[in-house]
Amino acid sequence: MGLTGIQIFKLLPKTNCGECGVPTCLAFAMNLAAGKAELEKCPYVSEEAKEKLASESAPPIRPLTIGTGDYAVKVGGETVMFRHEKTFVNPPGLAAMVSTDEDDASVQGKMDRFKAAQYDRVGLTLRAEMFLVNDASGDAAKFVGLAKKVSDGTGASLILKSDKVDVLKAAASELKDKKPLLYAATAANADALGELAKEVACPLVVKGDGSLDSVAALTEKLTGMGLKDLVIDTGSRDLKKVFEEQILIRRAALKDKYRPLGFPTIIMAHEMADDLMNESLVAATFIAKYGAVITMSDFQPHSLFPLFLERLNIYTDPQRPMTAEQGIYPINNPDENSPVLVTCNFSLTYFIVSGEIESSRVPSWLCVQDTEGLSVMTAWAAGKFSGESVGSFINKCGIKDKVKHTNIIIPGYAAGISGELEEELGGWTISVGPREASQIPKFLKVWKP
Ligand code: SF4
Repeated sequence: MGLTGIQIFKLLPKTNCGECGVPTCLAFAMNLAAGKAELEKCPYVSEEAKEKLASESAPPIRPLTIGTGDYAVKVGGETVMFRHEKTFVNPPGLAAMVSTDEDDASVQGKMDRFKAAQYDRVGLTLRAEMFLVNDASGDAAKFVGLAKKVSDGTGASLILKSDKVDVLKAAASELKDKKPLLYAATAANADALGELAKEVACPLVVKGDGSLDSVAALTEKLTGMGLKDLVIDTGSRDLKKVFEEQILIRRAALKDKYRPLGFPTIIMAHEMADDLMNESLVAATFIAKYGAVITMSDFQPHSLFPLFLERLNIYTDPQRPMTAEQGIYPINNPDENSPVLVTCNFSLTYFIVSGEIESSRVPSWLCVQDTEGLSVMTAWAAGKFSGESVGSFINKCGIKDKVKHTNIIIPGYAAGISGELEEELGGWTISVGPREASQIPKFLKVWKP
């Protein structure tokens, strides 16, 4: 159990200088106790107090990175139970399993699908990041060969899974520079796997026997050996039980500051369901609550795409709308006679509108005005997409130097600003575009300056 705010306060300088960003040491102590402040913010804490408070100031759920390079997956570091309280920080890594008893064509198919299943959406690339490499036969050479093949062929981050310490050691030693996640330390092999994880400096899964007590006993043992980067698998495979455990683990870590459960979790969805459809449902459940790594038996676009979208939505900051940068976006190589459209900088609006313009194949200029991430109607209602603000933006953004006509297309939902905009732009014609973005291609194909 963590220290209370008053206990922490007793260790602070008590000068109330305010340099930590709050007016008093007591307020700072309360924030520290609640996990809302970092000890480094106070420059005057004594070394002795730092030592005592070190565990209090550590994040309640240990942040760690699995893998290296483009596909490295950061997990842990979460600070809230519900995303609307603040935000969820590190999206879960999605993995598919390849096994040493699988034929080459099957492994290659998964690798090909891993590389192909990449989607651009709202300026981000949605994709999976990991492979779980399973040792089915105890053959170290085969296991190492498969792990290297997947790593070299895809660049994906790896989870290395074997029941045999020597087999896991062979692969971990070979691939330690790729920082794979080792699976898994149990009550039976914790000493040996703890030593191995330390030796190769790789994160380690702790697998319980289906009880949180067994997990806590293992994490305490391994942290006692000096290991920090641990990932929890409770060992349960029943959906309801795993769901309950995930909530208990997060609650214990955040609310009770119970360090033995303050680690990210792995969900073995491929061991919890008997087909990919049900695995996907399990994965969807634990993207929301609170898996940090989720494994499935395969990558298939129809399974991955909805999971990617769910993950994107759950892990965006609900207090900060996603935005596109204000500016002029040329689409389909426009020239001086091409239509000029204007819209807001809400990311989703920008990507939908630009996508429709692109698919129309009509060369166009899209002017995106900063509306602080609000959609057209909301921005209009808030006075951030008015005739005056759009006019001022169009006058300054430089579009007038790029075209020789004087016509601008505004969104159908903002038709009400056309009179004011006409005045602001002095001599320009305002065309009211369609309300729905899906109608833009039809509209542009018949547009004349
Ligand atoms: Fe107290 Fe340190 Fe904050 Fe100053 S910076 S108010 S000493 S906690």
